[in-house]
Amino acid sequence: MNPDLERLIALQRLDSAALDAARRLAEAPERERAFEARLETARGQVAAARQRQTQNQEARRAIEKEVAVHQGRLSKFREQSMAVKTNLEYSAVLKEIAFADGEIKALEEKLLERMLDADDCSAEVKRAEAALAAEQKAVDADRKTMQADGVELKSSLQRIEGERVGIIAALDKQVLRIFERVAERRNGVAVSEARDGICTICHVRLRPQVFNNVLKSTEIVQCDSCQRILYSVPKAPVAAPDGLPQSAT
Ligand SMILES: [Zn+2]
Repeated sequence: MNPDLERLIALQRLDSAALDAARRLAEAPERERAFEARLETARGQVAAARQRQTQNQEARRAIEKEVAVHQGRLSKFREQSMAVKTNLEYSAVLKEIAFADGEIKALEEKLLERMLDADDCSAEVKRAEAALAAEQKAVDADRKTMQADGVELKSSLQRIEGERVGIIAALDKQVLRIFERVAERRNGVAVSEARDGICTICHVRLRPQVFNNVLKSTEIVQCDSCQRILYSVPKAPVAAPDGLPQSAT
């Protein structure tokens, strides 16, 4: 194979690896936002559970106040019942007492419901707090992994840069200019494999003469359509399932 073509293939491999590493490094802020969003969701669940608990406590206090009001009226009516002079007055006071009693019973029923609900509320708060702690732990671990990946990606970028310098120094300057020009126009990918007469990146069928030149691998050949520098991978002999060589049909 033409040594420059071999260098270009190696150069492209390095550039593609560098692009991939740079893209992954650039994803870090978005991944950090995703970590923060996960924590925010868990914090929101804790806040909602605590709010429900507070509402329950306030509702219980309000009911207890109402009960106290009715109990106050009840003792007032009981005092009055001692002092009434007529049957009519007496039955009116009894009616008030019965009403206040009924109100208190209904309120106590409500209070009991709220107290049962309070148990659910505290269980929910505990659950949400545990979930937040677990999420914090998971996010910390994911952050650590991301930071370690970042260090590795940066060092691989440095390694690539070093290898790149070596390849470029050995490469024919004109061939390098072709590579750089195409890479600039084609999102950093200037080299393409030609297989079965087709450029595998732009999928355009090559002229037979062009493809033949690619197969010879002796010169730098560009795709007519995307301008990428073409190379071909020699086919390994394919064995038939029973181990015999396949007949060329
Ligand atoms: Zn092409």
